This record gives sequence, C-alpha cells and structure tokens, in this order.
Amino acid sequence: MDLHIDDVTLVYPDGESTLTAVDAVSLEVPAGTATALLGPSGSGKSSLLAVAGGLTRPTSGVVRIGGDVVFTPTTTPREATRARRDRIGLVFQQPQLIASLTALEQLELRAHVRGRRPSSARDHARALLDAVGLAGLEHRRPAQLSGGQRQRVAVARALVGRPDVLLVDEPTSALDHERGTQVIALITSLAAQEGAATLIVSHDASTLASVDTQAVLRDGRLATADALR
Ligand code: ADP
Ligand code: MG
Repeated sequence: MDLHIDDVTLVYPDGESTLTAVDAVSLEVPAGTATALLGPSGSGKSSLLAVAGGLTRPTSGVVRIGGDVVFTPTTTPREATRARRDRIGLVFQQPQLIASLTALEQLELRAHVRGRRPSSARDHARALLDAVGLAGLEHRRPAQLSGGQRQRVAVARALVGRPDVLLVDEPTSALDHERGTQVIALITSLAAQEGAATLIVSHDASTLASVDTQAVLRDGRLATADALR
C-alpha cells in the first residue's frame, strides 16, 4: 500500500520558543518503490521518519497508509504502537539486534510480536535471510557476524510480517561505500519484492543509484522530489 505524508509539520519546544523540525511536508511513496530522503544534518530527516513511523506525533498533518489515516496529532500511544507493529518495519543506523539470539531467532521473535503463526513465520524468516544473502548464517549470533551482515539481519527483521511501509534511517553510515551501496540496493529490491512503500534517509547520495526517487529536505522543507528513473 502507498505511504502518504500529508502536509506534516513537527514543532519541538525549544526553551522559551519553538523549533520547526518539519515544515509542511507532503510526500507520497507508492507501494513497492523506494524514495531516498536526503539533506544536511539537522534538516529534519529523522524527525520526518519518526512521524511517518508513529514514533512522534505530528503537530499538524496526517500520515496515511493506503486509505487509512494512521498517525495524526491526536493519535494515542496505544494506537500508534499497534499501527507500527502491524504495518511498519523500521531499520535504524545501528542494527539493534539482541546479543543472545541467532539471526533466525531475531526474525522469529519479531514474527511472534506481530502475532504471526510460528510455522509460516519460520518459512518467511528463512526466505528473508536468504534474500539478504545470509543463507547458511541463520544460526549465528550478532557477535559472529560482520557489521554489514548485522545490518542485513536488521533489514530482514524489519520485513517480517510483510509490513506495508519500510522506514530506514541512515543504514549505511557505519559501512564503507561499497557495502553501503549493496545494502541500499538490497533494501530497494526487497521493497519491490515485498511490495513495501520504502523511505530511506541517507547523508550519502553516492550510495543511492538503486532508489526510484529522491527528496531533499532543507530546514524542514521539501526542496525537490525528482524521479530518477
Ligand atoms: P536530521 O536527521 O536531518 O539530522 P533531525 O530530524 O534529527 O535532523 O533534527 C531536525 C531539527 O530538530 C534539528 O534542529 C534538531 O536539533 C531538532 N531536534 C531533533 N530532535 C529533537 C527533539 N527530540 N527535541 C528538540 N529538538 C529536536
Ligand atoms: Mg538524522
């Protein structure tokens, strides 16, 4: 399903005054495509992603998935948690894996949280680990994987339960250029395969050859959204 960010503004309190981190941004990400969100540090990329993922309520505007309004200024934490659990996959800068669990177990735990039946979840988990190039490494714990491999586990885990929307914040900042480019290409091909509307925050445009569209934020405002191909 498509992700729609409709006229979203996010204002943080800032001492006596306020700081507008996201300023009237509208953005549409069609299902199965990936949009990169670029912009200098402090331009509001993470703030916009946090609103899109229901981690932060917008001050005004709404987030929709398909025809459903999911996040608004009055969404309760309980509603936000449910929408996030059922419909959204998140990948952060650090993979945030659980040290004691194997790669496969990280995915199975997520499937359990998402209320999926263990048997079907296990098959999809294995298929996802395969798709991210970790076939044969399913039983390794994070300490036995490289940084790039850990980030691949995090990507696979985010897609457990087939979320409608995949949100990724600076997934390559700890990786070198080549590995970063590979992880982005992997995310875009998986987004297409799984039909997820995908938004990828990046500081490094040189890794983004595989994305469909780029949007640039400056001071919380959308500067451009050009189709690349
Ligand atoms: P980016 O991800 O593009 O670097 P951020 O979204 O993190 O930008 O930050 C945008 C602006 O909002 C910055 O000026 C930042 O200092 C401010 N900001 C971010 N998070 C908070 C917060 N929780 N409280 C107050 N201000 C914040
Ligand atoms: Mg950021």
